[in-house]
Amino acid sequence: AIPLVIAISTTLGARNGLLVRDRRGLEEARNLDIVVFDKTGTLTMGEHRVVQTVTDKSIGNEEALRLAAAVERDSEHPIARALQKSAEAIGVEIPRSQNFRAIPGQGVQAQVEGREIQVGGPSLLKNNNLNIPKEFNEAAIHFGESGQAAIYLVEGEKILAVFAIADAIRPESYEAIHNLHQLGIQSAMLTGDSEAVAETVAKELDINLVFAQVLPEDKAKKVQDLQKQGKRVAMVGDGVNDAPALVTADVGIAIGAGTDVAVEAGDVVLVRSDPRDVPRIVTLSKASYRKMN
Ligand code: ADP
Ligand code: MG
Repeated sequence: AIPLVIAISTTLGARNGLLVRDRRGLEEARNLDIVVFDKTGTLTMGEHRVVQTVTDKSIGNEEALRLAAAVERDSEHPIARALQKSAEAIGVEIPRSQNFRAIPGQGVQAQVEGREIQVGGPSLLKNNNLNIPKEFNEAAIHFGESGQAAIYLVEGEKILAVFAIADAIRPESYEAIHNLHQLGIQSAMLTGDSEAVAETVAKELDINLVFAQVLPEDKAKKVQDLQKQGKRVAMVGDGVNDAPALVTADVGIAIGAGTDVAVEAGDVVLVRSDPRDVPRIVTLSKASYRKMN
């Protein structure tokens, strides 16, 4: 038989917009020391927009967007969608590309009209040992200070353009972090995005710990590192990349609007995709399990 207190907590969960997939996760939530949030799509909306374009003298804004969108055609990354939408919005025809390849945690590459084009973040430049010309570097620093990602368009060894890509913070994230701190639980942010963007967003939300430029395969390891320090860790995420970390964490919390892979890896699913439901889980866990041991 299902103990009454668990039956009640599951019902309460449903009533509070939580899908409890593994009750042990809900039970553990009362003991948490730290909650690690994925940034993109979890603390932010995950709906990216191109807000500025800076190009080399050899190329205009339209041409830069056209080439970038062509390479991003076959990518489902939120940054790819932003570039595609912006190119569509100015009405340019987006050519097909050849030999598309995604470089996880860095960007994408393909041939467009016989040209070798890459599109990606700072780690793409770093891994290819590309020098950033002064005007692009200054633009990128400025973008980072505004919490916008700098995404580069590269042909061969040459940087042709940098796009500022913005992703708005979910308004509910402020209260989510504040309420966790009130419960005596620390907050952390884990992202593949650059230091500059990660630091800006973390500062804005008052997040305690930041792990930036983390490769997809290293996300679970960051959770393990915290566990080795004796902390009980919850992970909150929405992406395919987050699934191993969700499974590794003591409590895996998936964003309901996230990918199926993430939802299936979570102990608890936030049906409303509202990060404020994370501190609510802790409160619910404390109320439901207090009398059990
Ligand atoms: P996150 O979703 O946390 O940003 P990812 O591992 O998906 O983590 O991406 C890490 C970084 O790699 C991105 O912030 C971006 O700089 C770059 N990147 C990844 N995929 C793409 C893409 N399709 N187009 C451009 N940049 C990309
Ligand atoms: Mg994400």
